[in-house]
Amino acid sequence: MSAHDVKLFGDQIAAARLEDRFANMKASSLLRLAIEDLFPGRIALVSSFGADSAVLLHMVSRIDPNTPVVFVDTGQHFEETLGYRDALVERLGLTNVIVAEPDAKTLEAEDPEKFLFASDPDRCCEIRKVLPLAGALEGYDAWITGRKGFQSVTRSRVPLFEAEGERVKVNPLIGWSASEILDYIRAADLPPHPLVAKGFPSIGCLPCTSRVAPGEDIRAGRWRGRTKSECGIHTEPLSAGQDI
Ligand code: SF4
Repeated sequence: MSAHDVKLFGDQIAAARLEDRFANMKASSLLRLAIEDLFPGRIALVSSFGADSAVLLHMVSRIDPNTPVVFVDTGQHFEETLGYRDALVERLGLTNVIVAEPDAKTLEAEDPEKFLFASDPDRCCEIRKVLPLAGALEGYDAWITGRKGFQSVTRSRVPLFEAEGERVKVNPLIGWSASEILDYIRAADLPPHPLVAKGFPSIGCLPCTSRVAPGEDIRAGRWRGRTKSECGIHTEPLSAGQDI
């Protein structure tokens, strides 16, 4: 199915059809199909270079190392994440990494002290993550996410293919278990994010990520103590023109 079909039939229907057709496919085969056949030249992997990101980055590097990989540099990342990003990019030979950054004027006007996360984390995520990603994805018909069903109750219901306005989100690892992720990382001899061993199984921005105790939900350290559980890039269709 092409992006033309996606638009022709309506994104919800198209995503549902893709889901039915490819539900049992292995993640790497599904990725190859999406990159080479379904959306050639019109699909990007969005990566946070977090705890499990090496799996998809490795698969994509094997299919085509020039596949666009979008990283949103919020300006609030751990130094370890930026170092890990650079090391993985070199190790995997990725040649098309796009760094999306927040709009400088918006930051100057709304978050000059880098403290908006404390008073209004939703707006902080909006200007530091959602809008830069929306801008970077303009012109693409599909994007690949690294979400896993075991990460949270909300994510356990996410399908393989998901409609997002006129775009399709592909979630190749949604059915993977935590042990399958670990097995893949070991088998491919991929380096771990340095913060995983320090108690961070899910890694976002420094001010909004804390250690997780044994037995806690894997994303319990994200926005701890707040009702917030997602940054917003997956909660509504991305649009670069929204509420700047
Ligand atoms: S995770 Fe925290 S610091 Fe990062 S963009 Fe969202 S609110 Fe801001």
